Amino acid sequence: MGISPRTSSETPESQPGSATGQVDRPARKMAGEVVISVRGLRMAYGDFEAVRGIDLEIRHGEIFAFLGPNGAGKTTTVEILEGYRARSAGDVSVLGEDPGRADRDWRARVGVVLQESQVEPELTVRECLQLYAGYYPSPRAVDETIALVELAEKADARCGHLSGGQQRRVDVALALIGDPDLVFLDEPTTGFDPSARRAAWEVIEGLRRLGKTIFLTTHYMEEAEYLADRIAVLAVGQIVSEGTPQTLGGRDRGGSEIRFALPTGTERAQLPDGLGPNTEHAGRQVLVRTAEPVRALHVLSEWALAHGYRLDDISVGRPTLEEIYLRLTGAQQ
Ligand code: ATP
Repeated sequence: MGISPRTSSETPESQPGSATGQVDRPARKMAGEVVISVRGLRMAYGDFEAVRGIDLEIRHGEIFAFLGPNGAGKTTTVEILEGYRARSAGDVSVLGEDPGRADRDWRARVGVVLQESQVEPELTVRECLQLYAGYYPSPRAVDETIALVELAEKADARCGHLSGGQQRRVDVALALIGDPDLVFLDEPTTGFDPSARRAAWEVIEGLRRLGKTIFLTTHYMEEAEYLADRIAVLAVGQIVSEGTPQTLGGRDRGGSEIRFALPTGTERAQLPDGLGPNTEHAGRQVLVRTAEPVRALHVLSEWALAHGYRLDDISVGRPTLEEIYLRLTGAQQ
């Protein structure tokens, strides 16, 4: 699969410019400045309200992850922020302007990577980037951008001959070639194998180091956990929780979880008293939710030592981000 930047030709105001042309560029945003501000955003398709009054504030240099079930309204919101969709109500400012009225200079400061790939199959990676560089007033250097997405060894390969993961990297390179301040990444690693996904995360981390602000939509909780400074969860057009990966949905306040498998030859009735009332079973897996993990672990280890059980797979931690997400969105789906 692949994703691609929207080409300039899709919007009337963004006609190709000269790669070397001297177009005055608005001052770059500085750390801490608000890059995206949304107040009371609503969007209705006919009678159906897909976005139902959302507020967002994203600052320069943040990686912000926007999560939510299918149909929650993520794409609708993102398209409004990108200036590709009109809104029904609310105030929206992106890089200091209303994206609904933004001009070509504004668009050059916004990189977009979509889910559908549109790379030119007959062009080499370098040719493709050279072509796109011509659409922007102050593009990045082509070879530097190819290196940034770790495609140097494929620079002279035709785009049509690349693997899906490599094409996705071209898509990211195309979104970066205009040297944008803000990058929208729509499900950037869907369909990637685990090692390609890790590699993509490193590329995205690299963008953070370049000072880009990144708006990420993803269905992968580990991706949000790895990359995001902040997360907002959308369900049925409303934000149901916002926080860091560690604090989202009260993750840092909800107690601990102890997990282990019943030792061979034991049954759940043989577990010791004192693990607390919140003990769940799934097959031979046991989950103990507790506000007092040390006490519960003490009870459990005393029991295991007394009987010679090993509990090799025991783990203690907070609820996973996926569990928090499912709790937050479960009722709304
Ligand atoms: P996914 O995770 O599946 O991409 P999403 O969160 O991006 O979902 P949207 O694509 O924003 O969701 O859709 C939100 C709701 O609006 C859905 O119920 C969808 O059917 C509806 N919708 C989206 N686009 C249109 C449209 N052009 N006309 C009518 N309804 C639409």
